[in-house]
Amino acid sequence: MSEEMQRIVLAKRPEGRPGPENFRLENVAIPEPGDGEVLLRVLYMSLDPYMRGRMDDAKSYATPIGIDEQMGGGAVGEVIESRSDQFAPGDFAMGMFGWATHGVVAARELRKIDPAVAPITTALGVLGMPGFTGWYGLTEIGKPKSGETLVVGAATGPVGSMVGQFARHKGLRVVGVAGGADKCAYAVDELGFDACIDHRDAADARALRAKMAEACPGGVDIYFENVAGKTLEAVLPLMNVAGRIPLCGMIAWYNAGALGAGENQGPDRLPKMWRTILVNRLTVTGFIISDHFDRYGEFVKQAGPLVGQGKIRFREDVTEGLENAPAAFLRMLDGKNFGKTLVKVS
Ligand code: NDP
Repeated sequence: MSEEMQRIVLAKRPEGRPGPENFRLENVAIPEPGDGEVLLRVLYMSLDPYMRGRMDDAKSYATPIGIDEQMGGGAVGEVIESRSDQFAPGDFAMGMFGWATHGVVAARELRKIDPAVAPITTALGVLGMPGFTGWYGLTEIGKPKSGETLVVGAATGPVGSMVGQFARHKGLRVVGVAGGADKCAYAVDELGFDACIDHRDAADARALRAKMAEACPGGVDIYFENVAGKTLEAVLPLMNVAGRIPLCGMIAWYNAGALGAGENQGPDRLPKMWRTILVNRLTVTGFIISDHFDRYGEFVKQAGPLVGQGKIRFREDVTEGLENAPAAFLRMLDGKNFGKTLVKVS
């Protein structure tokens, strides 16, 4: 009898906020690697906000996960069997294994990791896709200049903390927005942000804007958009002429469905928003990081040494056990993670 592995599949599509009922843990046979493929035992897997979008049957830049299909995502693992001359048992690699204890992946789709250079988990966070997203969006779209002011939400997460620290490194004034006093203290004391505003401590967008205006006396030149919602509403009127908005994510609205889904609530603020973009000549650029992986090497060259020297800091929020992945994912969507969300699988 073949050996078994565990995996988590999408049991049913969520309507609005997902819950544990949307996932199912299964035992299946471990697949055999074919020619050019590698079998890995997963050590750590990544939980990312984009996975919420894949659970909907909506048109997007990526195909939705089918019902009863395994949840996808990045992970780091140890090679246990290889049918490729590029990998040998005992090697560590990062690849898209999904929510599972094991995975078979084509060797050409794996990135080898040297644990002597940095802890293997960094390949999923500060030096992986999220860190790269922050660096790319800031440098290519934000076009930061010394002396400017930047605001970033989800400030202590892997994207926001890279954006803020890299911007500080470039000589900008950096103001974070985060959920809770502990996260804000960390952003200022550990990450070196100039200020951080607790969005949970502001009753509405107007209250948040008042605090933001105080923290940004010269207005805002770059708003790195991770969250939307109340934070976007607060910051837009504070944008300076020729400001830039790298539109990276909008987690506050991920459960609201696509435009036209009829679930967005509240008055229509589109006219006011459009007007602000016009009169302030703002540049708003959406980007999807998978379009830009040709720049990944450049990112590692710039950010790797700063991480190694402790000039860019990071924090990880690790949950033990594949079976606890759905709960950890839901905690992250509720903002209860503190740092890069990871699951220690084995
Ligand atoms: P995080 O680890 O920072 O986790 C998400 C955080 O979002 C939470 O911790 C919480 O932080 C915040 N949040 C959740 N709900 C709300 C809300 N209603 N209002 C305000 N903040 C909220 O995530 P990442 O760093 O991995 O990702 C950050 C953003 O970047 C996400 O929107 C993600 O989808 C996007 N992204 C986009 C990519 C692209 O290619 N465009 C690639 C990678 C990420 P807090 O408690 O501090 O508010």
